[in-house]
Amino acid sequence: MSNEQQQGNNLDSWLDAYAARAETLAVSEVRALFSVVSRPEVVSLAGGMPYVAALPQELLAKAYHDLMAKKGNLAIQYGGGQGDLVLRDQIRELMALEGIQSSVEDLVITTGSQHGLDLLSGLFLDKGDVVVAEGPSYVGALGIFRHYEADVEHVYTDHDGMSPEALQETITRLKAQGRKIKFLYLVPNFANPSGVTLSAERRPRILEICKREHILIIEDNPYGLLYFDKPVPDALRAVEEDGVVYLGSFSKILAPGFRVGYVLAPPAIRDKMVLAQESALLCPSSFTQMMISEYLANADWKGQIDTFRGVYKERKDAALAAMHEYLPGLHTTRPDGGFYLWVTLPDGVDSKAMLPLAVKELVAYTPGTAFYGDGTGQNKLRVCYSYPTPENIKVGIKRLATVINLQTELLETFKGR
Ligand code: PMP
Repeated sequence: MSNEQQQGNNLDSWLDAYAARAETLAVSEVRALFSVVSRPEVVSLAGGMPYVAALPQELLAKAYHDLMAKKGNLAIQYGGGQGDLVLRDQIRELMALEGIQSSVEDLVITTGSQHGLDLLSGLFLDKGDVVVAEGPSYVGALGIFRHYEADVEHVYTDHDGMSPEALQETITRLKAQGRKIKFLYLVPNFANPSGVTLSAERRPRILEICKREHILIIEDNPYGLLYFDKPVPDALRAVEEDGVVYLGSFSKILAPGFRVGYVLAPPAIRDKMVLAQESALLCPSSFTQMMISEYLANADWKGQIDTFRGVYKERKDAALAAMHEYLPGLHTTRPDGGFYLWVTLPDGVDSKAMLPLAVKELVAYTPGTAFYGDGTGQNKLRVCYSYPTPENIKVGIKRLATVINLQTELLETFKGR
């Protein structure tokens, strides 16, 4: 337990009353950064925030007026536990862009895809179960798995995504140890934090392994439509219906403040998801679902996604150019879409220990250890280029280079002694 947590606990008169699982709620490394990086003088390459300013506010104002004129009080009433039927039908069209055929019955709308993943984890995970995931993997998912007291087993992942050979080895080893693997959690497109995409060649192999080993796949795909030049390969769910639960979100292609995501699941899982959702929330927000529905019906949403793509591509180019100029010796991934670069630091440089120095230099990033459940990733860091302007990205990476170079020199001097 950290000093701050210890201090917080000393002030907490209800310490004896908490459930054991409350222990798993550690402050995430990303969250802990938010207070610091919101200072205007700090260039934040940390939190994965979409650039919502690229969405014209008039579009939302129009959606609001049209919605209230048409639906009035219905828009602020409780809705069904599975989510709005009209929106579910529109989501089918959205998912068809990634090759997915589905019916409205199999979709459940959730309060962001984060909530979908939480509901699924509650359905599947008992203490000591194993979730297999990419290495590195999304910090928010790791937090959920920890909360349900599951262990995460990372599988070797390179520039083409998760290695099928390594996946097979991991499954064989875990099964031999008598471990219960509950699902494979994957972010196949422009992954958070690595930026890499699972290749078209590996997709059927991963599907085949999981089918043979009877392991459910959770395909989390909030970034797939944010490609820079060419669309991503078809979703895993486009090929396999029964073995894949698909998570989608409006957070990155519209705005995260609506908190609307969706889950496409095989019927038995879907039924349980709806019951779990009703028990947790009664229903997702009618108002934000209907706002999105109105937006999809009347605004040029595909054109808006193109606008987002253009913005993020320009920022990715700025980030890679700055990496090349200021940190030419470092390896970084080169994403074809999404928000993130994954940077490897020189051996021995610890990105978590370096963070306070970086913040002093007025730049922030997310340390690599946040994206592993096993404490590894010390010499990695995530650069998120989605939010700062291209000019600020350049300034931020220049500052980052100052800190990294200083750390590297110090290590060299230390080694020389
Ligand atoms: N999955 C991944 C891979 C993400 O990066 C995020 C958000 N950063 C989420 C899920 C959660 O998205 P939402 O806003 O839909 O809850």
